[in-house]
Amino acid sequence: MTKQNKRYRRPRWHISQFKVEEVPGKVRFHDLFLPIALMRAIQEVGYEYCSPIQAMTLPYALAGHDCIGKAQTGTGKTAAFLITAITDLLEHRLEEQYVGEPRALILAPTRELALQIAEDAKALTKYSRLKVAAVVGGMDFDKQKQQLHEQRTDILVATPGRLIDFMNRKAVFLDQIEMLIIDEADRMLDMGFIPDIKTIVRATPRTENRQTLLFSATFSQDILNLAQRWTNDPVRVEVEPKVKTAEDVEQHVYLVSSEEKYPVLRRIVRQDEADRVMVFANRRDIVRDLAENLKKDGIPCQVLSGDVPQNKRIRTLDGFKEGKFEVLVATDVAGRGIHVDGVSHVINFTLPEDPEDYVHRIGRTGRAGKKGVSISFACEDDSFQIPAIEEYIKRKIDLEQVPEHMLDDESAAAMVVEKAAEKAAKAEADQAAAAQTAAEAEQPSETSEPVVADASETETSEPVKAVDNAAAETPVEDATAAEPEAPVGEVTAIDVAESEDGPEITVEVFVQESDDTDEGTADSEATKTDSDKA
Ligand code: AMP
Repeated sequence: MTKQNKRYRRPRWHISQFKVEEVPGKVRFHDLFLPIALMRAIQEVGYEYCSPIQAMTLPYALAGHDCIGKAQTGTGKTAAFLITAITDLLEHRLEEQYVGEPRALILAPTRELALQIAEDAKALTKYSRLKVAAVVGGMDFDKQKQQLHEQRTDILVATPGRLIDFMNRKAVFLDQIEMLIIDEADRMLDMGFIPDIKTIVRATPRTENRQTLLFSATFSQDILNLAQRWTNDPVRVEVEPKVKTAEDVEQHVYLVSSEEKYPVLRRIVRQDEADRVMVFANRRDIVRDLAENLKKDGIPCQVLSGDVPQNKRIRTLDGFKEGKFEVLVATDVAGRGIHVDGVSHVINFTLPEDPEDYVHRIGRTGRAGKKGVSISFACEDDSFQIPAIEEYIKRKIDLEQVPEHMLDDESAAAMVVEKAAEKAAKAEADQAAAAQTAAEAEQPSETSEPVVADASETETSEPVKAVDNAAAETPVEDATAAEPEAPVGEVTAIDVAESEDGPEITVEVFVQESDDTDEGTADSEATKTDSDKA
């Protein structure tokens, strides 16, 4: 190695370039005496102060203690264990190391989470020579094996099933593991991975000869029992999220009928401010149908669910991150542990069955200090989930009617019709009252203004209710039939036609002519062109 090369390798960066003010009660990464290459990467990813889980675990973990941490996604737990692993690996360099023999192993329950962790690890090792690799199910085995064997691997991130494949085929050896990290242990348990993990843990050195960190969103007795087997005198750290729902998310729950859901969704997606939208639904078939409908309506979108092959899922997620399409329709597999910055809207097309998923879903927006919007649809089939969600997030949810500007053309037209009917009914009541007053005064009633259902006046900002189609179906003949006669002010016919400027709504209202005769015959017609496009 030449002198010049040596000089080139030294990072041309000094810690003085990373200034973070000391603030009482906050722990800076500077206070932890981390390797310079790691500090440079931390600066680049934009962290300044430790999150609570980091501030609580890092002093112990960096000193070599085993830790079990109760922390959910969003607390910064990934960086907590990565910083520990990277520091340890950089501070204890090996004389020699063979391919297929990683030094740190991170186990995660899903491919998406494993790949996300690997990405974070690559970002944090950017200025060091540590190598990160991932082995996850659903992707080409040979390709992953080739990648793993092209160079040494310091940090291996894996899903349990695929790692066992690698172990069985002698493509990876775990006897040199210095650090074992088990992430989302509770989900591992739920997903039936514990037997696999037991096999994996047995292939690593004994607890005294490795450092083990275990993270779980919950500490059930089962998890604590497993933690006791896999760790050595661990430090236990628990972080409850301060607020369970993201503070930076503006949350709305709209009361809609199930038929209104799709038109309202389409309208939300078409708004200017909605530039990266995640739509969640509980079932794969709903997700698939939604994506088909959105595509038919010319809205670029992709699906992320268990139905989609792994390779495609990763491409889809990458495409969404890169802004190649606007809408990602997903089941809850995508909701947890996935970081996509800049999601402007999260739409819960169906409310989740597990209140925790509500928090996970809406946590996809409002990240990294940006404001996000979550809109949940509550219809007759899913509003019963609301009390459980309210209890979980410890907050009352205000149910809102869909604001007018979020209504789709058809719904907007229906709203105008309904308002016209309401107005006509009011006119009828007013007129009846006037007639009553006139009769009491024993005078013929004053000529009142003909009742006109002025649809323009229906463009109020009042909440919109579901449309009563019965009014719209009233046949015109009814208005002219002798018996029974339409009451004054009743909407007798409504026609909604498409025009260039938007839906054109014609409302016919039966009007009592205010002359002395009792024959009410005139039909007043109000036409409103709703060019507002709602
Ligand atoms: P996690 O809980 O690991 O899923 O992390 C949630 C998010 O917090 C990720 O987008 C991280 O990049 C980010 N994050 C982690 N640690 C910090 C920190 N100390 N300061 C700011 N953001 C952080």
